[in-house]
Amino acid sequence: MQHSVSIRDLSLNFGSVKVLETLNLDIEQGEFIVLLGPSGCGKSTLLNCIAGLLDVSAGQIFIGGKNVTWMEPKDRGIGMVFQSYALYPQMTVERNLSFGLRVSGMKKDEIERRVARAAEILQIEPLLARKPANLSGGQRQRVAIGRALVRDVDVFLFDEPLSNLDAKLRSDLRVEIKRLHQRLKNTMIYVTHDQIEALTLADRIAIMKNGVIQQLADPHTIYNKPVNLYVAGFIGSPS
Ligand code: ADP
Ligand code: MG
Repeated sequence: MQHSVSIRDLSLNFGSVKVLETLNLDIEQGEFIVLLGPSGCGKSTLLNCIAGLLDVSAGQIFIGGKNVTWMEPKDRGIGMVFQSYALYPQMTVERNLSFGLRVSGMKKDEIERRVARAAEILQIEPLLARKPANLSGGQRQRVAIGRALVRDVDVFLFDEPLSNLDAKLRSDLRVEIKRLHQRLKNTMIYVTHDQIEALTLADRIAIMKNGVIQQLADPHTIYNKPVNLYVAGFIGSPS
């Protein structure tokens, strides 16, 4: 079967520093993969390579069977949600959601349909006329997710989308992201350093250390059968 995302012998250096080294990862269609590891282990770098925001030093990336290694980010069929919301401050929520679609020349009624659908899924319909400055952190992050959603992509990339939120909102939005995945059934690659987030969201967790995947397995296996002390220590399980 064709994988949704395949990473083949991917290496990335910043100058002489090797951040990712001959990394391999196959992700199935519809799978929710969490990249978990401490700050600085290379999670964002890996995600940015998949998104096309960084040029790889070696190796290949396939999305939907297509070699996208040297493709523009916009042509890769991915949507990305960052830790900071990166909304356009001068635009309303509706404009924030529709801007990318307008630029792409999509028809007006199709844009309206997509914005309405995303707003319904994320329960932000009452916010469409507001500007980002008049939204809470949780509301802004919903809009940021909505911007990826309207593009109707096969693969969603999330880079610590909840880490700027307080604990209550974090757990609320965690539930919403899980529901979103159950509804859309698309592929999600989700970066976090939060063990609880990983254990509750993931179909499979990839635990990273210094740019290397230490273990790739379902949460139950990672928790109960960590392959080494590093994984055991990081996930907080007995070993
Ligand atoms: P994570 O997302 O897991 O916290 P990153 O992927 O951001 O980690 O960073 C991995 C390593 O690469 C870190 O040591 C970081 O300092 C380094 N790094 C990240 N971005 C750059 C850059 N643009 N230039 C040089 N080094 C970088
Ligand atoms: Mg990061």
